[in-house]
Amino acid sequence: MKFSDIQRLLQELDTEPTRSLGQNFLHDQNLAQWIVSSLDIQPGDHIVEIGPGLGALTEYLADHDIRLTLIEKDGRLAAYLKERFQSATTSVFHGDALDFDLRGLWGHGPVKVVGNLPYYVSTPLIAKFTSPLSPASRLVFTLQLELARRLNAEPKTKDFGAMTVCVNRRWKATFLRKLPASVFFPAPKVDSAVISLDRRPAHDVCPLDDSVFDSLVRRGFSERRKQLRNTIPECKNNWPSIVAKLHVPETVRAEELSLAQWESLARICFPASAQSGAEMFDVVDDQDIVLRAEPRDTVHVNNFLHRAVHMILVNSKNHILLQKRSIWKDRNPGLWDSSAAGHVDSGETYQDAALRELREELGISSPPLKRIGKLTPCKQTGWEFIEVYTGVHEGEVFPAPLEVETAAYFPLDQVSDWAARCPADFSPVFLLSLELLSKYGSLPDPSHPAA
Ligand code: SAM
Repeated sequence: MKFSDIQRLLQELDTEPTRSLGQNFLHDQNLAQWIVSSLDIQPGDHIVEIGPGLGALTEYLADHDIRLTLIEKDGRLAAYLKERFQSATTSVFHGDALDFDLRGLWGHGPVKVVGNLPYYVSTPLIAKFTSPLSPASRLVFTLQLELARRLNAEPKTKDFGAMTVCVNRRWKATFLRKLPASVFFPAPKVDSAVISLDRRPAHDVCPLDDSVFDSLVRRGFSERRKQLRNTIPECKNNWPSIVAKLHVPETVRAEELSLAQWESLARICFPASAQSGAEMFDVVDDQDIVLRAEPRDTVHVNNFLHRAVHMILVNSKNHILLQKRSIWKDRNPGLWDSSAAGHVDSGETYQDAALRELREELGISSPPLKRIGKLTPCKQTGWEFIEVYTGVHEGEVFPAPLEVETAAYFPLDQVSDWAARCPADFSPVFLLSLELLSKYGSLPDPSHPAA
C-alpha cells in the first residue's frame, strides 16, 4: 500500500488515524511483502492477522492459498476490510484481539499469526498468542524497537529481563529487522522492529511447572540490582551448593543467569515430580480378568493387556471439556484428549480410578459419573481395556502442571468437525471415546447429573 493509497482510503472512509488505537499505517510495499514472506506461508496454513488496518499486509496475505482470519478493533476499518477481503476462506472479526476466542482457531490447519501491532497493547497480545490455548506455531510481529530488543536480549545486558526468560522458555525469539518510524503514516515517535517467535519443540523445553518458573523469574528480576540470594529466600540456606551447581558466583544477580541456568535453578529450588515408571498396573487376560501386577514400564514394553479410564465432562452449555496433554507425556504428548484419563492402578476399580484421575489431573472432587461403554484392547487403545465415563461439571478446573498443558470447554459440534478434519490433533483413544459418546446418543443432562 502506497502513501497515496492510505491518504485516499482515509478520505474515502471519512476518517483519520486514531492515536488511542495505535494506528500507524505501513506505506512501504517492499517491507509489507517482506513481513508476509517472513511467515513462511505453506498451502493450507491458517493465518491470523491482528490489526489489519487498511490492509497493508493483508493484500499480500490474500495472494496465498490459505485460510485468513482478520481481527480489527476499529469498526470503520473492519467494515472496509469485510467489503474488500471477505470470502469463503477469509473472515473478518470486528473486536478487540485481546477478547478473541482462541478456541475457534483449532481445527483449521496450522496457525501462524502476524501483525504490525498497536504498541499500547503489544505485551498482552504476545502473552495471549503464546499462551497454552494458542494453536500458533509461528508469530511475526512488528513491535516498538525497545520491546523487540527485550524479547531477544542476551544475559548480562540491560534489556535481558523476566519477559525475555519467560517467553523464550517455550518460544524462540528472533530479531528480524529494524523499521524506521518514517515507513508509517503517521510516523510514530519511536522506531520499530520485526521479530518472529517460533514454538520450541518439546525436547527443547525443560519439564517444569510454568507458573512456578514464571513466579521465580519475576521475583528474581523484581529488584534487578539485588543479589539473587536476597530475592529468593527459599534458596538462602543452600545457596553455596546451588550456585556451585550453576557454576556462578554466590553474588549472582538475576540478569546474569541464562535461560538454561534459570531452569536449573527452578529444578533445584522446586524439584518437580517426574513421571515415574514405578507405578504398578494389573495385567489382565482377554476377558479383563486380573492375572498379576507388573510395573508400568514392563506392561508397556511387552504390550500386556491392562486397564484405563477416560472421562468426558460436559457443562450446562453442552460444551465438552478437553484437556491438552503435556508435551512431556511419554504417550501422545501435546495432543488433545478426554477431560481426564489414566491407568487403573493395581488393586483399584475402574470407577475409583476415574474419580482419582479427575482429582489428580483437574482438581475436581467426586462429580457424579455415568459409564457409557468399554473399549476393548487393540493397538489404538495401547492394549488397554478402557471404561469411558461422562459427567457434568461446572466451574473451574485446576490442571496438574506437568500432566496437562491446558483444559478448555469446546462446543461438541466444533470438536466433531475438528476431529473429522484433523484427527492427528487428538489422542487415538479420545477419538474412540467420542464415537462411543455419539452412539450413546446424548450428553448427560446438566440439570440432572448422572447417578
Ligand atoms: N496492519 C496495518 C498496517 O500495517 O498498516 C495497521 C497497523 S496499526 C499499527 C495497528 C492496527 O491495530 C490498527 O488498524 C488498529 O485499529 C488496530 N487495533 C488497535 N487495537 C486493537 C486491538 N486491541 N485489537 C485489534 N486491533 C486493534
